Amino acid sequence: MIPIAKPILGAEEMRAVEEVIASGNLAQGGKVHELETEFAEYIGVGHAVAVNSGTAALHIALLSCGIKSGDEVITTPFSFISTANSIIHAGARPVFVDIEEDTFNIDPDAISERITSRTKAVMPVHLYGHPADMKPVMEVAEEYGLAVIEDACQAHGALYDGRKVGSFGAGAFSFYPTKNMTTGEGGMITTDDGEVAELARMTRSHGSKQRYVHEICGYNMRMTDIGAAIGMVQLGNLDEWNGRRIENAKTLNAGLKDLRGLITPVTRNGCKHVFHQYTIRITGEAKTGRDKVAELLGSNGIGTSIYYPIPIHKQPYYMDMGYDDTLPAAEQASSEVLSIPVHPSVEKHDLEYMIGIIRGVIE
Ligand SMILES: *Cc1c(COP(=O)(O)O)cnc(C)c1O
Repeated sequence: MIPIAKPILGAEEMRAVEEVIASGNLAQGGKVHELETEFAEYIGVGHAVAVNSGTAALHIALLSCGIKSGDEVITTPFSFISTANSIIHAGARPVFVDIEEDTFNIDPDAISERITSRTKAVMPVHLYGHPADMKPVMEVAEEYGLAVIEDACQAHGALYDGRKVGSFGAGAFSFYPTKNMTTGEGGMITTDDGEVAELARMTRSHGSKQRYVHEICGYNMRMTDIGAAIGMVQLGNLDEWNGRRIENAKTLNAGLKDLRGLITPVTRNGCKHVFHQYTIRITGEAKTGRDKVAELLGSNGIGTSIYYPIPIHKQPYYMDMGYDDTLPAAEQASSEVLSIPVHPSVEKHDLEYMIGIIRGVIE
């Protein structure tokens, strides 16, 4: 079986965890601090604040940027549910705009139409590891005075115009085991704004700077030193692993091109796509057979997944809340996408095997 995702964990992670256990300091301590320092440097920002999940990173980033009850945050409906839920957790209302067909990311031209007096932020997602089009996103945010919170949970190391994603606004990363690097569960907020960083640090730990003095109502969203120790090893390997994902994607692109009813992923000029997922579209007549294709690949030992089969505005409880948007590009993407294995443990012969099976199935 070639699984759709496979965390790479070895002797180094084992040693790093043993060291933490031997130290007796399991909760947030020196290792978390080390990971924050290294991650801030890696992304190219002044501050990084570690938390216990990507969802917590998004939630805290919103709160730390001043988002509160009654506010609106513009985002994409074509993402993991956590993106929009974090806005609800912050007390605000997600407002959805459609996506670009080629990158699956928020369409910057659609943002200004949905801006109201309540709009306080925009939350682009760098889906599958491809950067959202940040130049026009930053321009519209600047024009209307909006905060920008980047959901970079799938895009550790991705570049836009030579800059790492997560360095444009406040960034939120996830270190869940299937992501490009892991700490078990975990997340990180990145920012150049010292005040946002300070609020984030307080919010993750019951609103206190000084022990048992609580200035705001916070949470317990701290990362453990065990997780951070794993993360330090993983961060050291991230660029090499991303390089392997990119190479694998290149091989797949070459092997799957010119197939009728199949569109391979694009990488825009000026972008480094880190291929958290390699996602094809199955279109036209073949579209009705997407699930059949997935099933056939599965029966041939190739793991696949649909990210995401239902856009967020069509999820049952969003419909219950009264969302009735029609967002054609997102809805079409949900009915056509299929992700196939691209992670660093996929070998050359796996790729050749996958290409052969997919060509056979589609043709
Ligand atoms: C994984 C992910 C999250 C949430 O991260 P968790 O660590 O699972 O909480 C948020 N947004 C996107 C796009 C993700 O892929």
